[in-house]
Amino acid sequence: MYVVAITGGIGSGKTTVANRFAALGIDVVDADIIAREVVEPGTPALAAIAAHFGQDLLSPDGRLDRRRLRELIFSNPAAKSWLNALLHPLIRSEMQRQCAAASSPYCLLVVPLLVENRLTGLANRVLVIDVDEATQIERTCRRDGVSREQAQAILASQASRAERLAMADDVLDNQSGTSETITARILALHQTYLAFASQQAS
Ligand code: ATP
Repeated sequence: MYVVAITGGIGSGKTTVANRFAALGIDVVDADIIAREVVEPGTPALAAIAAHFGQDLLSPDGRLDRRRLRELIFSNPAAKSWLNALLHPLIRSEMQRQCAAASSPYCLLVVPLLVENRLTGLANRVLVIDVDEATQIERTCRRDGVSREQAQAILASQASRAERLAMADDVLDNQSGTSETITARILALHQTYLAFASQQAS
């Protein structure tokens, strides 16, 4: 399967753009969804987390209390490393499994932290969704109702725009021009990926 990874900072438009590819018939695999699936009730990973950190990390319905887990790892680097060592291999292999099972000519793998978690090796091609930082903050505040300071803090915790662009094979400018221009850019990328995928298949 020819895999195109799509990444970008918070509020850059990854989900919006991935939906456009999906509308063109391309199967989309989403790392954030997989990250939730691997800790669903009944999974070995959730059992391991509860055994390691205690049952208080489970909410009354048996689901992972993500807020408590976030608080715990925020102030505890060892806990964060332990959790990453447990979850990252599971998430990675599930992403690979879902991409391999895709039935479209190529598959789109949405990985917000592709650069931070050094996952570019999972893809044949890396597409970075690019907007400037002011636009990221403005769109995130509008979408999530958070303050500029909160949006800024999340941005600061992620890879920089320059670091992300350095890993890109392709860059989608999701800021300048009209919505028609952006649509045309997406269609052009789609044609390119169809051609690459059919070259690889032959
Ligand atoms: P996150 O990393 O936080 O999940 P994301 O990269 O998936 O974000 P989206 O949720 O797709 O980003 O987009 C962020 C916001 O910006 C949304 O409200 C979306 O509707 C808006 N948006 C996306 N693309 C554009 C665009 N070209 N013009 C204007 N608004 C846009």
